[in-house]
Amino acid sequence: MLQLIRNLHRNWWLKRHPIDDTLWLPVTTMPILQGLSSAELARLKLLAAWFLHTKAISPVKDIEFSDPMRVVLAVQAALPVLNLGFDAYDDWKEIIIYPSQFVSPSRERDHYGFVHEGDIVAAGQARSDGPVLLSWHDVMEAPWQDGFNVVIHELAHKLDMRNGYPNGNPPLHHGMRQKDWQQAFSHAFHDLQHKASHGEYSPIDLYAATDAAECFAVCSEVFFEDPHTLNDCYPAVYRQLKLFYRQDPITRLPRVGYRPYFADAVAH
Ligand SMILES: [Zn+2]
Repeated sequence: MLQLIRNLHRNWWLKRHPIDDTLWLPVTTMPILQGLSSAELARLKLLAAWFLHTKAISPVKDIEFSDPMRVVLAVQAALPVLNLGFDAYDDWKEIIIYPSQFVSPSRERDHYGFVHEGDIVAAGQARSDGPVLLSWHDVMEAPWQDGFNVVIHELAHKLDMRNGYPNGNPPLHHGMRQKDWQQAFSHAFHDLQHKASHGEYSPIDLYAATDAAECFAVCSEVFFEDPHTLNDCYPAVYRQLKLFYRQDPITRLPRVGYRPYFADAVAH
C-alpha cells in the first residue's frame, strides 16, 4: 500500500516537472545512448528527472552547477537503472561534485585484516557511509564509447552496496544464479590479475584486477560503453550483466575502436 502511494506521488510529481526539452535534447546525442528506442528515451528522461529531484547535488569550491550540467550527470546515472526502476538508488541521497580529480581519505582492509589509511587521488568515489563523489571534468569526459565512465562506475558500486559492503556481489534478481555470477566474475578477475601481473595488454582496464568490487564496477562501465569488447573477452560476464541490468547493449551500440589484442589473438 505504501509503495502504491509512493508510486502515485512520483507519477504525479513527474507529470508536473518534466525536464525541459532545451535541456534534454542535447544530451540525447551522447554516444552511449545510441540505439535506444523512443520509449526507452522517454523512460530515461523520467528516471533522470526523478534522480535530480531525489538526490542533493552539492558542488564544492564554488562550482556553478548549471541545469545543463545537472542533466548531463542525471542521464548517465539513469542509464544503468533504465530497466531496474525508480527505487534502485533509493538507499543514498547525495552527490558531491568536485571540479576535477580530488584527494580523498581512504581506509581499506586488506585480505589479512589490516586496515590501510591514506589519501588517494580519485575521479570518483562511492562512499559506503553515504554520498557519491565525482570529478565534473571526468563526468564530462564520460559519455563517449571509450569504455570509461566514472558515473556508471561509481553507481555500480552503489548498486553493489545494496546488500552491504561492496564486494562485487550485488543482490541478484529472481531467476539469476549466484553460482553463475561467481563463476563468470571469478574467471574474468583471475584472467585480469594474470594480465596485470605479467604486464599483458588488456582491452578491459586492469584496474578491474584490483578486487572483486572493482571488477564488477569496471565491467559495468565497459558493458554500457563498449559491450562488444566485454562480450569478446568475457562472454559469461556479459551474460550476467545483461541479466543484472536487464539491458542488452550489444544490440544497440556499434563496435568501437581497433583492438590489437584481438588481432594478436587471431594471428596466434
Ligand atoms: Zn571503483
